[in-house]
Amino acid sequence: MRTPFIAGNWKMFKTGREAVTFAEEFKELYQDTDVKTAICAPYVYLGLLKNLFSGTDIKVGAQNAFYEDEGAFTGEISVQMLEDVGVDYCIIGHSERRQYFGETDQTINRKLKRLFAGTITPILCVGENLQQREQEEQYLVVRDQLMGALAGIAPEQAVKLVIAYEPVWAIGTGKTATPQQAEDMCEFIRNAVEALYNEDVADKVVIQYGGSVKPANATEIMNMDNIDGALVGGASLNAKDFMEIIDF
Ligand code: 13P
Repeated sequence: MRTPFIAGNWKMFKTGREAVTFAEEFKELYQDTDVKTAICAPYVYLGLLKNLFSGTDIKVGAQNAFYEDEGAFTGEISVQMLEDVGVDYCIIGHSERRQYFGETDQTINRKLKRLFAGTITPILCVGENLQQREQEEQYLVVRDQLMGALAGIAPEQAVKLVIAYEPVWAIGTGKTATPQQAEDMCEFIRNAVEALYNEDVADKVVIQYGGSVKPANATEIMNMDNIDGALVGGASLNAKDFMEIIDF
């Protein structure tokens, strides 16, 4: 009943030329599929990718957005600006933004609220770091992140949310959570959404796993009951690898 959704997160990679080469190659490889897909690219390539992917089902996402519409906020990009170039998705609260750019549950909450006031679907990232996992605090950490991010967000909005569970210790490390570890947390997240809202919202919310997803492990991860998709970093930089993941 939930449509699988596999998104690539390019992070801060690729030149303009490389972005074009990827898009052309990916369009060639891309076949009609029941899986929804998006590429979350650096801001400067979003308009370009929207054009290159027009007429296909391939969606485009940003990796962040600011909550104010305009103003003296040097270096920021507003949700309104992203809507203007036709962006479909926006990652919010990625662990790298929490870690290096001081994102808090409060700023994440404001960003989500602004996105829900418009047309772009947010992909909310949550996940514990290695120390928190070792101290067996992962469920507490993720529950707090969810409650902070979703404060004041109505069920009609939450139902459209995509949540990505990304254990920080599995990002870019080649270390994947075992499919069972990933499933356990995604089930926990679904139950937490039910406790915050209701069963209908919990049934509909799309939950992705992210952290060293590769063609070789995608099938096992995607076959888990509560995992509806993947947020793919490194392996989304290569059109062939990314397509193989979509074809899991
Ligand atoms: P990797 O797939 O490179 O581990 O990155 C995961 C991630 O952070 C996606 O947002």
